Parts: sequence; structure tokens; C-alpha cells
Amino acid sequence: MKTINAVKFVFPGISENERTARAVISAFLVQLDPTVEELADIRTAVSEAVTNAIVHGYRKGKGDVELYLKLLENREIYLRIKDHGCGIADIEQAMEPLFTTAPEEERAGLGFAVMESFMDKLQVKSKPGQGVTVTMRKKLGNPICREK
Ligand code: ATP
Ligand code: MG
Repeated sequence: MKTINAVKFVFPGISENERTARAVISAFLVQLDPTVEELADIRTAVSEAVTNAIVHGYRKGKGDVELYLKLLENREIYLRIKDHGCGIADIEQAMEPLFTTAPEEERAGLGFAVMESFMDKLQVKSKPGQGVTVTMRKKLGNPICREK
């Protein structure tokens, strides 16, 4: 599918940058004039993936998080969030709602479930020790068809 616009941001995996990532996705989506709900859904999904990279991926070390955003044809948004942290051994288990490896931090184990429900497509790739790549897609509605 044809790429109409794309940006890539690389930032250190520190908690302050959860907010940076939300600001970056909001800025990129301005060109699409999304609804409040679309914007909130995508911001939340990005935030969950970036938080995971920071709190799980780089739990025992430091590293960068890459946020790659593409606008495809027909108002479709492609997002890729990539870290080079500890990785995930069992992806299927990690994606189960309520599964968490950090219950002592009062994590709910719902990040992937949130990404899945707010976006049209979610794919997680990882190998232990080689980081995690999360890709998501969402098609935004046509502004002309919006109810007033
Ligand atoms: P919540 O998102 O509700 O605060 P959580 O982060 O534990 O809790 P998920 O986001 O669904 O829940 O992630 C499930 C599990 O997958 C995590 O507990 C962690 O073990 C693993 N995981 C997710 N993302 C990464 C990552 N980038 N690197 C390493 N492990 C990850
Ligand atoms: Mg999470």
C-alpha cells in the first residue's frame, strides 16, 4: 500500500518519554483531523506499547525506543514501536488479558488487550534478548461522513 507520509522518532526509554510519544502521535495525526475518540484510542495504544518498552523491555538496562509512524492510503495509520530490550519468550501468553510479569507494581496485564481493542490490527514480534516490535494499524473514518 502506498505511503503518503512517514516519520521516525528515536528516544531514550525513560518514563518522561511516555508523554513525548503521546505528543508525537498527536502531532502526526493533525493532518488527518481525527475525531476526539480516534485520537484518544491511538494515543492510548501508542502509550501502552511505549510504556511496555520502558518498564518491561528496559527494566534492567537502558536503550532507545523507536516510534515509526506512517500514513497510508485511505486514511490508514501504521504504527511501529520497537525496543532492543529483554524481549518476550512466550508472546501468546504475554498477550493474554490479565497476564503480567510485574504484579508487584500493580500492573493489570491489560496493555496488549487495550492495543488490540483500540486498533484494527496488532502484531507482536520478539525473541528473548532481542527486543520487541509492535505493529498496529487503524483506519480513520471519513471526515465528510461525520455526524454534526
Ligand atoms: P499493564 O499494561 O496493564 O500495566 P502489563 O504491562 O504487565 O500491565 P501488557 O502490557 O499486556 O501488561 O504486557 C503483558 C506482559 O508482556 C508484560 O507483563 C511483560 O511481561 C511482557 N511485555 C510486554 N511488552 C514488553 C516489552 N516491550 N519487552 C519485554 N516484555 C514485554
Ligand atoms: Mg503494559
